Amino acid sequence: MAFFASIKFKMSLALVTHPEYSYDFPQKHRFPMQKFKFLHQYLKEQGIATATNTFRPGSAKIELLQNAHCPDYLNRFVTNQLTDKEIRRMGLPWSEGLLRRTLISPVGTTLACQLALKNGIACHLAGGTHHAHYDFASGFCILNDLAIAANTLITQGKVKKVLIFDVDVHQGDGTARILENNDKVFTCSVHCEKNFPARKAQSDLDINIPRDTQTDRYLQIMADGFEKALALSKPDFIIYDAGVDVFTDDPLGLLNVSLEGVRARDNYVLKRCLELNIPVATVIGGGYDKDEHLLAQRHAIAVEEAYKLSNTFL
Ligand SMILES: [Zn+2]
Repeated sequence: MAFFASIKFKMSLALVTHPEYSYDFPQKHRFPMQKFKFLHQYLKEQGIATATNTFRPGSAKIELLQNAHCPDYLNRFVTNQLTDKEIRRMGLPWSEGLLRRTLISPVGTTLACQLALKNGIACHLAGGTHHAHYDFASGFCILNDLAIAANTLITQGKVKKVLIFDVDVHQGDGTARILENNDKVFTCSVHCEKNFPARKAQSDLDINIPRDTQTDRYLQIMADGFEKALALSKPDFIIYDAGVDVFTDDPLGLLNVSLEGVRARDNYVLKRCLELNIPVATVIGGGYDKDEHLLAQRHAIAVEEAYKLSNTFL
């Protein structure tokens, strides 16, 4: 096909993960902290994650985090001095394990972006902590890896305009606020209008989806939103937050999207990026289930689609 000839990348899928993403965590807590480990395991079993295509990020230097966060907030989180109220809003108990994984994940998203610049496409097997604000944590999100990575790419002069396309079922309110006056990063959130956070921020483009929307309608609204975001932002890099909490059985989502719908969505977005020669890095975003193995397979969908497309476009 004609557009294959114009591809400027030698496509190969790069993955980013770290063994410390899943740490010893209270089992009764509703946050599925083991899903990161299970996702990597599952992709290894599928032959998608191998020793040669999987990269391990280091821990963040404070300067990287200051691309998107207040130094005082960073210092208080790192030294376990957040107030009880702040911890409640964060939604996760502070521990050394939480601290370690939190400092690694933004480097993981940034590394996935750098690998995508080189290879055309890359997937971080974590990330998408889009409720993290400039100076506070919220909704299981402490550091905003999306804003940190986008700002880092811009600061390093590697790209001119980043589109953050966020289809997690919840609005990317932290990302929107941190980047609201930044004309080099365009934020687009496609989310269920009646879901967390109650008080929405203003993204550059918000696509509000009514509660209980079914798969076909969801896909149509999502695709229209993506095309509009592309036209408005004209990006030379895309970060795709492929949250799977739009899935009909997700306990924190209020939409009725099937697994096939999630797959069709991820295929649509990633295929458009590759057709348009725009490098894309994916993060997994939100997804909840008591069965963390099943949940990991749900998060694997975006990676599987990226894998298939990277082979097709080679
Ligand atoms: Zn979510």
